Amino acid sequence: MTKLLKDFRYTVPLEDIPENGLHLIFEDMSGILSEAEECRILDTARGEVFLHRVDGAVHLKGKIAAMIIIRCDRCLEEYTREIDTSFFYILVPSQSIEGKREIALEKEDMEVSFYNGSEIQIKEIFREQVLLQIPMHHVCKEDCKGICSGCGVDLNVEKCRCRSDILDNPFSVLKELRQAAK
Ligand SMILES: [Zn+2]
Ligand SMILES: [Zn+2]
Repeated sequence: MTKLLKDFRYTVPLEDIPENGLHLIFEDMSGILSEAEECRILDTARGEVFLHRVDGAVHLKGKIAAMIIIRCDRCLEEYTREIDTSFFYILVPSQSIEGKREIALEKEDMEVSFYNGSEIQIKEIFREQVLLQIPMHHVCKEDCKGICSGCGVDLNVEKCRCRSDILDNPFSVLKELRQAAK
C-alpha cells in the first residue's frame, strides 16, 4: 500500500500498517527540523519509508534526499549541502528494554529504537538522519579562507585590511617618515 503525504502526518498508528506493509512518501519536509537546529532544510526534500510489522516490532526502511542550509565553520556564511541517505531501523515497543538489548547485540549495524504506545513517530527518525549527515567540521568549500581574526573581513571576498589599517593611521605614517629621514 502506498500513500503520498504532504500534510506533515509523521505519526503512524500501528493498526494503519497492513499485513503486507505500508509505503509512505513525504514531500516538503521542512517541518522536520526545529528552529534550534544547526541547519535548515529546503522544502524540496523528499522522503520515503516502508513499514513492516514483524513479531511485535516494526521494521522501518527509509531514505531522504534533501538540500540543507548550513553555516560554514570558517567564514560563517551559509551554504547548501546535498544529502541523500538511506537507513534501516528496528522499532521495538518501549516496554521491552530487554528486547532492544537482544536485538542490538544481534544486529550491530542496525539502529534499534523505541516506539511509544501504539504509534510510530517518523519525524524524529528523519530528523536524526538529517543531523547525522552534517559533518563534524563543516566548511563551505575545501579551501575556504575564513575570516581574518585581525580585521574581521571574509577573506574569500575581500583582502585582509590589517596591513592597510596600519598605513592609514597617520601616526604610523609619521613614524615611517621619521624612520625614512634617519
Ligand atoms: Zn566558508
Ligand atoms: Zn585582517
